[in-house]
This record gives sequence, C-alpha cells and structure tokens, in this order.
Amino acid sequence: MRKKAINSFKCIFPAKSVNESFSRYIIAAFVTQLELKVNDLADIKTAVSEAVTNVIVHGYNKPEYAKSQKLVFLSCDYYSDGKVVITVRDKGCGIENVAKAMEPLYTTAPEEERSGMGFTIMQALTDDVRVISKPGKGTTVRLIRKMII
Ligand code: ATP
Ligand code: MG
Repeated sequence: MRKKAINSFKCIFPAKSVNESFSRYIIAAFVTQLELKVNDLADIKTAVSEAVTNVIVHGYNKPEYAKSQKLVFLSCDYYSDGKVVITVRDKGCGIENVAKAMEPLYTTAPEEERSGMGFTIMQALTDDVRVISKPGKGTTVRLIRKMII
C-alpha cells in the first residue's frame, strides 16, 4: 500500500518566465516546515526551477499551443521517512525520446543558447528523477529527494 504523505500542496500557474522565480519561492516556503539545511534547500529550489524552466521554454513551444492555456502544475508531498517528492507537469508537446533528452548536453534549443544540462542538474541535486512523457499529451517530471530530518 502506498504511504500517505504527511503534508502536501498543489498549485497551477501560467508557464511564463516570470514564474520561474515564483516556483523557487513557493517550494522554499512549503519545505520551510522541514527545517532543512541551507544546502538542501538550495538544491531543491534549483532542481525545481530547472523542471519549471523546461515547461516554460519547451513545454508549449509549438505553434498549436499559441492560443491555448499554457499551465504548469506543481505539487509537493513529503513523507514520514523524510522523502520529498516534487512533481512538475505540463499538458504540452511532450518529449519523443526521454532517454535521449536526459543525456548531458542534449538540447533541442541550441539557438536559444540552451546547454542541455537541465536534467543532468536535476539528477545531480536529487536522489531520483522520473520522467513520463507522451508526445502531444505532456510531460511529468518527478523529483525525489530523501532528507535527513
Ligand atoms: P538547459 O536546461 O541547459 O537550459 P535544455 O532545457 O535544452 O537546456 P534539458 O533541461 O536537459 O536541457 O532538457 C533536454 C531537452 O528535453 C530539451 O532541449 C527539450 O527538448 C526536452 N524537454 C525537457 N523538458 C521538456 C518539457 N517539459 N516539454 C517538452 N520538452 C522538454
Ligand atoms: Mg532545461
């Protein structure tokens, strides 16, 4: 049976670049209750901002989304064993080849000076990164990190 989270939140906001910093602050505000070490907090904020930036930059970057609502779905759950699970989801274009997209230096936006390091950074700063994506349906990125609390 799946463990029940001690606490959680969900929020939805537009995939606009101004909301990248919003996502960092909202996660930081939520995990304050865990009294994390400064480094752990910084890691979580950076990992989340990489996932949210990907939604903003890539998630809805196709002509068919020009007029649609472009939303980021962010949620966070934490468990009694110190596990924090952050989910960043979009209903955008999806990723054709997730394994390829997660390789260091792989980017589909070199002309925008993207370096293709977002997923690598997320992986370095968490214990696990799980990506589920369906072309035309969207992408879910789950960031999992066990905290010592
Ligand atoms: P950087 O993060 O270094 O600025 P990047 O965003 O291209 O560059 P990654 O974050 O590692 O690098 O992502 C790799 C690729 O995965 C992206 O170039 C993009 O093609 C794809 N991708 C990532 N997230 C999404 C998403 N939410 N929707 C659609 N495609 C995505
Ligand atoms: Mg990125």
